[in-house]
Amino acid sequence: MLRVVILGAAAGGGVPQWNCGCAVCREARRNPRELQSTQASIAISADGEHWYLINASPDLRQQVIATPQLHPKAGQLRHSPIAGVILTNGEVDAVAGLLSMREGSPFTLYAHERVLAILRSNSIFNVLNEKNVQRRQIEIDSAFEPALPDGTPSGIEVLPFAVPGKGAWYLEGKAHPAGGDGAGDTLGLRILDKSSGKYFYFLAACARVTDDLKSRLAGASLVFFDGTVWRDDELIAAGLGAKTGQSMGHISMSGDHGAIESLAGLDIGKKVFLHINNSNPALLPGSDERKAAEQAGWHIPADGTEITL
Ligand SMILES: [Zn+2]
Repeated sequence: MLRVVILGAAAGGGVPQWNCGCAVCREARRNPRELQSTQASIAISADGEHWYLINASPDLRQQVIATPQLHPKAGQLRHSPIAGVILTNGEVDAVAGLLSMREGSPFTLYAHERVLAILRSNSIFNVLNEKNVQRRQIEIDSAFEPALPDGTPSGIEVLPFAVPGKGAWYLEGKAHPAGGDGAGDTLGLRILDKSSGKYFYFLAACARVTDDLKSRLAGASLVFFDGTVWRDDELIAAGLGAKTGQSMGHISMSGDHGAIESLAGLDIGKKVFLHINNSNPALLPGSDERKAAEQAGWHIPADGTEITL
């Protein structure tokens, strides 16, 4: 049985964002229980004892505190059930949480060479001493099985694959420390429970749904999918910024070729939006956008939700 805990469902900045007075952020300050959300990350486990994080968000410390599954084992002076972290990109909202895991507990970091190169080129990440935090390079289209702390297999097979996206925002217009053409900047993951054969997909960033991606996702028990914006020009229309969803490498939920339309009819057991920006009106319960997403079979999850498959 594979257990999945949604540690956070929000995009960069979270909900509410520290400097934002948009309708959703204002409502989230009034109604924290229903609307506040931390930045996107999930935790997975096949044995309920050892957990792997998919991305380490800037809110990681708060997420670990709020998640009993990730607390140190009773009776142990120093311990963490977190056996590893798997990174899908090098954005701040995927890697900054690593800095909150610098207290000497061993874990393994799994990432594409392009992301490992970013970490190597930023000396602050040296707080994760390689003696405790081993780096393992992952390859596109090459499945791997994260190891448990004693070196035995975890029972979870992870298949990284390339999805249309963008490189990290802070590297825009700058030389990437790994060079190259950008292949590997944005990964999707298929995560398979080896004992049951069940699997799900994790795509917190995706610029468009290709035919290849559709055929991958068809028939999955569960898909976490990029829910950054409701419509492509949402930040501009709300006066919050100058970027479209597409220019940030994110598909919109709605519209022609949006996520809802693109994934309709693919026989997916459960569809969950993740990485939802605070500008997105689908976050507001009762909004027309929320109703449209839910009527199309999508979930807007609350932090802490656990799903088993
Ligand atoms: Zn806002």
